[in-house]
Amino acid sequence: MTKLQKLIQRFNITETDKIINLVGAVRIFQSATVMIDPIDYKVCDGCDCILFAGATFVCPKCSSYRFELDPYNIITKAIELSNKEPTILGLE
Ligand SMILES: [Zn+2]
Repeated sequence: MTKLQKLIQRFNITETDKIINLVGAVRIFQSATVMIDPIDYKVCDGCDCILFAGATFVCPKCSSYRFELDPYNIITKAIELSNKEPTILGLE
C-alpha cells in the first residue's frame, strides 16, 4: 500500500471526494487565470460561462451572441465561479 493510499484510508477519503477536490482545484486555478488578465476573456450573457475574448462570436454552450466585456464584471464572475461548490453530475 502506498503512502497516498494509506492517507486516503486513514481520512476515509472516497473516490467522489477526490474527484470533487480536483474539480474545485481546477476551477480555482482557472478563475485565477481569468483574474490575472480579464481583458483576454468575456462572459456570456446567456449562460454566464467565461470564454476567451477572441475565441468565438457565438457561445458554444447556449448560442448567445451577447457578452459582458467589462473587466470588473469578468473578475466578479470569476470570483463567483471559484466560490461555487463543486458538484459532479451523476454522482451522489
Ligand atoms: Zn452561453
